[in-house]
Amino acid sequence: PLVLGIETSCDETGVGIVRGQTLLANAVASSVEEHARFGGVVPEVASRAHLEAMTPTVERALDQAGVRFADIDAVAVTAGPGLAGALLVGVAAAKAYAVGLGVPLYGVNHLAAHVAVDQLEHGPLPKPSIALLVSGGHSSLLLVPDVAKDVISLGSTVDDAAGEAFDKVARVLGLPFPGGPHIDRAAAQGSGAAVAFPRGKYDDGTLDFSFSGLKTAVARWVEAKERAGETVPVADVAASFQEAVVDVLTRKALQACRKYDVQDLLIGGGVAANSRLRALAQERCDAAGVRLRVPRPGLCTDNGAMIAALGSELVAAGIGPSALDIPADSSLPITTVHM
Ligand code: ATP
Ligand code: MG
Ligand code: FE
Repeated sequence: PLVLGIETSCDETGVGIVRGQTLLANAVASSVEEHARFGGVVPEVASRAHLEAMTPTVERALDQAGVRFADIDAVAVTAGPGLAGALLVGVAAAKAYAVGLGVPLYGVNHLAAHVAVDQLEHGPLPKPSIALLVSGGHSSLLLVPDVAKDVISLGSTVDDAAGEAFDKVARVLGLPFPGGPHIDRAAAQGSGAAVAFPRGKYDDGTLDFSFSGLKTAVARWVEAKERAGETVPVADVAASFQEAVVDVLTRKALQACRKYDVQDLLIGGGVAANSRLRALAQERCDAAGVRLRVPRPGLCTDNGAMIAALGSELVAAGIGPSALDIPADSSLPITTVHM
């Protein structure tokens, strides 16, 4: 089936089109520049930007795919989690397209879609897989028996998300928002062993994460340098902070694989675009005999193709469509794959 996917949970208006699990189009309009001067996403600004970008982005996706509205067999949309007002714009648009085209509507979970998207690049997801989901608002380890039906949470952050930590540390270092890509680039010029920053919950026996202590440690370290009138070695601090984050993420991901006897690890979400995370995960998976799958960076950050991919998976699994009156649920739990 040809599935149109719509994503508006944060600051990206994403529209993707897939046929089965083949990617045909992935159009993204971002309002990130409008938020940059506030140092974070402003919900009202994001909602308005989605409203303005929706129609042109859908048209761009149809163009890219070389298909017409009449070819679409189903519409999938992010029903949650995310910013309530932003989600509403996508859900309302998706309902309108579904009704207008006379095709079924699938309200899907944004986090499960960060996992499902990998199928567009690397083929069917082994059942079961372990998924490390690391993004701006979430950091979780998941056992995924079947991404269309069953996602089990094994652990998650008890405070900040990994992406949130990247963004906050970037701000401390005077790097622009969103900070993840800037830390990634700065770190390439520094040493990850320059400063021994703390690794939260390193040996606590759980599959949970904690990043707020690390964030505070970096801020204190930088403040001390500044008070002493010394220049802050931005590249070394970025690299050392990044190393602390990816050390814990990869360590716990492999602990999960071992504990549940699963040989396939997938990493998804915006932070999965991080070059050091990808490299260290590959190194440790090779050593442990675990197969690693990470989508290309453009499919890690928010996009519509991931929503289309999960919608298409639901259609293929014979799972019924959503009711036309589904709400947007800003705190939809990861275990609810679809509405
Ligand atoms: P969620 O998926 O939890 O709702 P979100 O949709 O805002 O959150 P994503 O778009 O999936 O998040 O990810 C955005 C986050 O990814 C930001 O925190 C950003 O800094 C981070 N990020 C993007 N690229 C990189 C990178 N190369 N290195 C580290 N972090 C990155
Ligand atoms: Mg974003
Ligand atoms: Fe996301």
